[in-house]
Amino acid sequence: MGGLRQYAIPFRGLKEGKHDFEFIADHSFFEHFDSSEVNKGLVKVHIEMIKHTQFLELHFELAGKVTVQCDRCLEPFVLGIDHQAMLYIRFGEKSYEQSEEVLVLSDSASEVKLEQYIYEYIHLALPYQRIHPEIDGHSGCDHEMIKKLDDHSASDESDSEDPRWDKLRGLIKETE
Ligand SMILES: [Zn+2]
Repeated sequence: MGGLRQYAIPFRGLKEGKHDFEFIADHSFFEHFDSSEVNKGLVKVHIEMIKHTQFLELHFELAGKVTVQCDRCLEPFVLGIDHQAMLYIRFGEKSYEQSEEVLVLSDSASEVKLEQYIYEYIHLALPYQRIHPEIDGHSGCDHEMIKKLDDHSASDESDSEDPRWDKLRGLIKETE
């Protein structure tokens, strides 16, 4: 995890009160996560941290663009994202995730690593259904690809085990 050390906030030496941090999640960030549904992107992550006597309060604001795979034609396309999240950090004997919004850090910790949170927030910002936006009222999908996928699913039923094909067939029916 050494490569992502930059996505951490060293909070020990900071005064109580408000502090701002900015991180950029780019290609190398997404590359670091094997199961990422985003393989390329540029997301600006602004964090306003309020240091209280007993705990830390982090407000995340994420904005940028990511490349995801279209659910319909399976070709990549660029999606704009905009997401906000809150994280509270309190201290205890050992580090653990108490809930989605509360992280407990060991008393000896001097920094908080945020790459996993940034990764999750970016994925939370993705819409459930990811489909090419329309261009002038027409599907922005790769028509050649749709046709190929359609032929493929019609001629080779063994692929129906892959849930993506079922989903795809459903979508093609809906739009016709
Ligand atoms: Zn598409």
